[in-house]
Amino acid sequence: MGAGFLMLREESSDQLTLAFLDVGQGDAVLISKPRQYDLLIDGGPDPIVLSRLSDILPWYDREIDVIFLTHNHADHYQGLLAVLDKYKVGELIVSALAEPLPVELLDSLKRHKLSYTKMPAGTQLQLDQTTKLKALWPVAETPIADMNDRSLVLELVSGERKVWLAGDAGVAVEEALLKNNLVEDVDIFKLSHHGSDTANSEEFLELLRPEWVVAQAGAGNSFGHPNRRIIKRAERVGAQILRNDERGTIVFQTDGREWSYEASK
Ligand SMILES: [Zn+2]
Repeated sequence: MGAGFLMLREESSDQLTLAFLDVGQGDAVLISKPRQYDLLIDGGPDPIVLSRLSDILPWYDREIDVIFLTHNHADHYQGLLAVLDKYKVGELIVSALAEPLPVELLDSLKRHKLSYTKMPAGTQLQLDQTTKLKALWPVAETPIADMNDRSLVLELVSGERKVWLAGDAGVAVEEALLKNNLVEDVDIFKLSHHGSDTANSEEFLELLRPEWVVAQAGAGNSFGHPNRRIIKRAERVGAQILRNDERGTIVFQTDGREWSYEASK
């Protein structure tokens, strides 16, 4: 599998890669342009993320420019501890409401002499001429009790193509985004909260109208993720469903106009 993905990248080196890594029950998404940048959003629950990264990144690439942590739950940050030990990481970016960070993550940052930056809604990073990553949530000034709802919600735009990654944000966040008229057509949506029915509301999915939804869930997980009703709902709005528990790692590529994708299973 690794060789296949690598070949794919070498053949089309100007393409943006968006990989939904099969890390079991947890989230890990790699955004990469060969020889330009590697960004990792969440790291799954354990060091399995290292072997998933090495399936895609060339062996000599030991740097990750930016790691994003959507929120402080173990199925999102614990794999990052292994990533911080193995890769030279440039920076950690967290949700505007991430503090306090987990102690073991703070310890690791200290050991690796790294600091972190908060990314409030509205902040935008220009990754290359045609690619940018924007935070849609959370707003820094609004305190939220629910950890999932403090998730960093990110919009990736590459040329004419658009992707939303919503961490584990729930229905309340979706309602706030709807109220602010921020929800519009995307190509790919990472189902929020592993496809749970605490998120992915009908109105939200109807406005997003994704061509593909990706469920980052582990085989036989005890939460019943992704929820069967949410899968039906995504199908009803016309989305094709791709699940890490069924397809392994799912790798999309785009030139800014078209998408292609490949799955490891
Ligand atoms: Zn989660």
